[in-house]
Amino acid sequence: EAKDNGRHTFAVFSPTARHLLKQRLELRQDVFSALDRRQFVLFYQPQVSAANGAVVGAEALLRWEHPRLGLLAPDLFLPMLEGSPAITEVGAWVCEEACRQAREWELLGYRLRMAVNVSPRQLMDENLPPLLQNIVAHYGLDAECIKLEVTESMLMQDIDKAAFILRSLRNAGFRIALDDFGTGYSNLSYLRQLPITAIKIDRSFVREIERDRRCLDIVNGVIAFAKSLKLDVICEGIETELQKEAIRSTGCDVLQGYLIGKPMRATDFRAMLLAQGTAPM
Ligand code: C2E
Ligand code: MG
Ligand code: MG
Ligand code: MG
Repeated sequence: EAKDNGRHTFAVFSPTARHLLKQRLELRQDVFSALDRRQFVLFYQPQVSAANGAVVGAEALLRWEHPRLGLLAPDLFLPMLEGSPAITEVGAWVCEEACRQAREWELLGYRLRMAVNVSPRQLMDENLPPLLQNIVAHYGLDAECIKLEVTESMLMQDIDKAAFILRSLRNAGFRIALDDFGTGYSNLSYLRQLPITAIKIDRSFVREIERDRRCLDIVNGVIAFAKSLKLDVICEGIETELQKEAIRSTGCDVLQGYLIGKPMRATDFRAMLLAQGTAPM
């Protein structure tokens, strides 16, 4: 019987492991040509005002439409790109496409804040500020509409250089959000020194709220701290009504999560805006 079990286990798991490995190799082989093959696409997740539920922004999230494997989330391929200079080109495309989309919605009557995730390598590239300035100028966008999302760990790698580049971005008008706040070092002193305009409270806090009351206390504390620095606060990962109401009670400005809306294609996002009726401008 034990032998049978063994065979069974072998039969079920080994091909899966082999399959996964094969898939990873395939992805690694394909990912560097995906940009040229126009296989990348941006999805947009709504960000709404906690006060009245109006859509005030969108976060651009990268997807790869793999010809054989279908739609892939960034966790499956972004680390491969981030380990190589190719991320610069993909990152530039993300910036350009997100700005193009923001302009399209602006012309439709919706002036949204577009959040764009930035990779460490991208942020440490001195060309990033002029690149972004050229893009917003090209589309006739106000830089204030573009919010760059960076993470603490990214900044800690070379805090002086990061601060220098963030300052030139901020001087050009771009907004800067600290993503996944609370998961990193949370060195609060550098928050004062960096030209950050918003923090995004990580979804791990939101998720625990229902189980652990102290998470709400932490969120309350973070918000008080953020307000004292005049920073906007966004909560990500809101999945239930209970979480939403708890977070709203903290005075958080902007809400994001599956409950409010999943990341979606631009056409679906547009339909959502139109269904909302009143254009915010
Ligand atoms: P992130 O910037 O923290 O983005 C939030 C992630 O949480 C997204 O995953 C989003 O789909 C997911 N999410 C949103 N609401 C909920 C929720 O209510 N519940 C749960 N469980 N998840 C939620 P996604 O799209 O897979 O992206 C993962 C990460 O990949 C992002 O984390 C970001 O760090 C990175 N990323 C995505 N797009 C880009 C990009 O264009 N450039 C760069 N450099 N990084 C990107
Ligand atoms: Mg983000
Ligand atoms: Mg995040
Ligand atoms: Mg993240």
